[in-house]
Amino acid sequence: MENRLPSSLHILRDDAPSPPSSISEPRSTSSPDGRDGAPLADRYNRPVRYLRLSVTDRCDLRCVYCMPEGGNPTSERAEVLSIEETVRAVAVFRRLGVQTVRITGGEPLVRRGVVEMVRGISAVGIEDVALSTNATQLAPLAAPLREAGVRRVNISLDTLRADRLLSLSRRGAREHDGMMRGIEAAVSAGFEERKLNTVLLRGLNDDEAEDIVRFAWAHGFTPRFIELMPIGEGAELFAQGRYFGNDELRLRLAHLLDESPETRRADRGPARYVAARANVAKGREIGFISAMSHNFCEGCNRVRLSAKGELRPCLASPRGVSLRDRMRGGEDDASIARAVRAALDGKEESHHFLDAGRDDHHHVTMSGIGG
Ligand code: SAM
Ligand code: SF4
Repeated sequence: MENRLPSSLHILRDDAPSPPSSISEPRSTSSPDGRDGAPLADRYNRPVRYLRLSVTDRCDLRCVYCMPEGGNPTSERAEVLSIEETVRAVAVFRRLGVQTVRITGGEPLVRRGVVEMVRGISAVGIEDVALSTNATQLAPLAAPLREAGVRRVNISLDTLRADRLLSLSRRGAREHDGMMRGIEAAVSAGFEERKLNTVLLRGLNDDEAEDIVRFAWAHGFTPRFIELMPIGEGAELFAQGRYFGNDELRLRLAHLLDESPETRRADRGPARYVAARANVAKGREIGFISAMSHNFCEGCNRVRLSAKGELRPCLASPRGVSLRDRMRGGEDDASIARAVRAALDGKEESHHFLDAGRDDHHHVTMSGIGG
């Protein structure tokens, strides 16, 4: 893997805004689209400070809720944003007030040059760079990614049992071993924040919830449970009754949980956290991401950019706006920024996963848009 920054990134680096004094304060500067100083917001006045950046739609696993057995159709190399284009797009978002970039996919670590890309993203002034990964390939990359600027890492882990990976992700012991080594490497690399994300499926892994919680705590991760969403392959599992809601899970884990009210992290997404009982694991927490049982759209501060450069204001947006075509068509940054604002002006107030009459999100895939 190349670690050198391409020359075009040096140009971006020269142009880059100086890092903000604090990542919690949007940089007050002229925005490149003429709406001077106005931080990016949607039409409901929700500020947008968080970009989920999919760097590939490929993956080495086939999680049953995410991808069909044969995989989703993948993009041709030329269709995917180059490292230079990706960094340029991030720089535009940065100047519009975006402070956090989460690198995701598909599986971001199968993208060649991902370390170099992170370095470029850090160089344009994004201080809070986070990564979501299945960890199969994290072991050799954890330290270089940390050094390139990744501060926080979320690892998806649905089972501790290698023999179960086949029924959950259609892969076997080799990948599971990679995941376990990746988890150890994440601990050694010294990421500032580590989370372990699990999707529970009734009858497939719901019996592992407590084991996963204890494993996460033992390795210094915060365990979080993401409710199955009826997106892409998830829709079929939903229909089969595999959904396992977080309300039921909280009852099952009640003996681990403190009775104090749940908390949310400002600007840190939809998860709600409940403290562990002091006599179980003092200072530890469990996170619940309850997209289905408790609509979490109200405080949404995020936007998504697919590997092909399509901007989607919402996970459930059926259509995106192509920043790639604008960049390749020769548009300048001010024009790209205007396109971003226009897309945000069209952001819906809420996802409609439970609307029986709307099935447009079934055609959206998490791996394609950056889950
Ligand atoms: N491959 C990386 C990983 O698995 O962490 C990053 C991309 S993956 C699409 C991001 C997250 O989306 C994972 O935590 C995965 O569990 C979640 N996910 C994918 N499809 C889902 C679905 N239908 N319902 C709920 N979560 C889903
Ligand atoms: Fe790959 Fe992540 Fe989707 Fe699993 S959830 S198939 S690891 S992209």
